[in-house]
Amino acid sequence: MRVLICTDLEGISGVCVWEQTREMTSELYQDARRLLMGDVAAAIEGCREGGAEEIVVADGHGGGFNFIPEMMHPGARYYTGRARPRMSEYISRFEGFDAAILLGYHAMAGTPDGMLRHTQSSRAGNRYWYNGRESGEIAQSALVYGSVGIPVVMVSGDTAACREAREFLGEAVVTVAVKEGLGEQCGVLVPPLAAHTLLREGAREAMARVEQCRPFVMETPIQGCLRFPDKSTADGFQPRRSTRVDDYTFEAVFEDARFIHEF
Ligand SMILES: [Zn+2]
Repeated sequence: MRVLICTDLEGISGVCVWEQTREMTSELYQDARRLLMGDVAAAIEGCREGGAEEIVVADGHGGGFNFIPEMMHPGARYYTGRARPRMSEYISRFEGFDAAILLGYHAMAGTPDGMLRHTQSSRAGNRYWYNGRESGEIAQSALVYGSVGIPVVMVSGDTAACREAREFLGEAVVTVAVKEGLGEQCGVLVPPLAAHTLLREGAREAMARVEQCRPFVMETPIQGCLRFPDKSTADGFQPRRSTRVDDYTFEAVFEDARFIHEF
């Protein structure tokens, strides 16, 4: 069995303030990278225990290089670095993988109890709809993996991210909550060491649910909508394939879900 673990940073255990995820020169960001490597290692161990033979961990946060090489668990290979290829090129590398895990994800922009909630840009406040359904990064990633037949079998993050995952992906997906949001940058945290146990057990269980989880798909062509919270941000946006429909909004048609990020 071949498994892809796609990581983000905002939903990693122990991460709860923006400074941990935005400021690459901050000590708190360096702490967050170590926390990320801990959650990744726990998920790898669970996947291995559950029968995964090949694991690739993809570094998904920001445009940056978030992994710490000397902390890479040896049970996987790591896809990372700057100026990465487009999502549509990235996903073609992983055709034939059996399952995907979204590790350290967060709820979409506008979710009241979502810690570090956002969709794509954590500063701009963008919001996205596909075929009329507002979608965050969990659904976006699941759609891209679904476009090549890969089901998402597990999602970790805060309780809001886990709820969002079940709403989009169904009850078969394993969800592992490592914190509960009380505000955008405040919550009740599961200690990382305890979270690692949950992540390991969750990943092992997820390997047993691969057959029950279906790839997440939407009817094509997909009607995409991107909305900015203010006109000045929208004015600065350079559309690739979308059309501006008002001061805040761009619309695009995607023939295939692998292109849904390419507004
Ligand atoms: Zn992120």
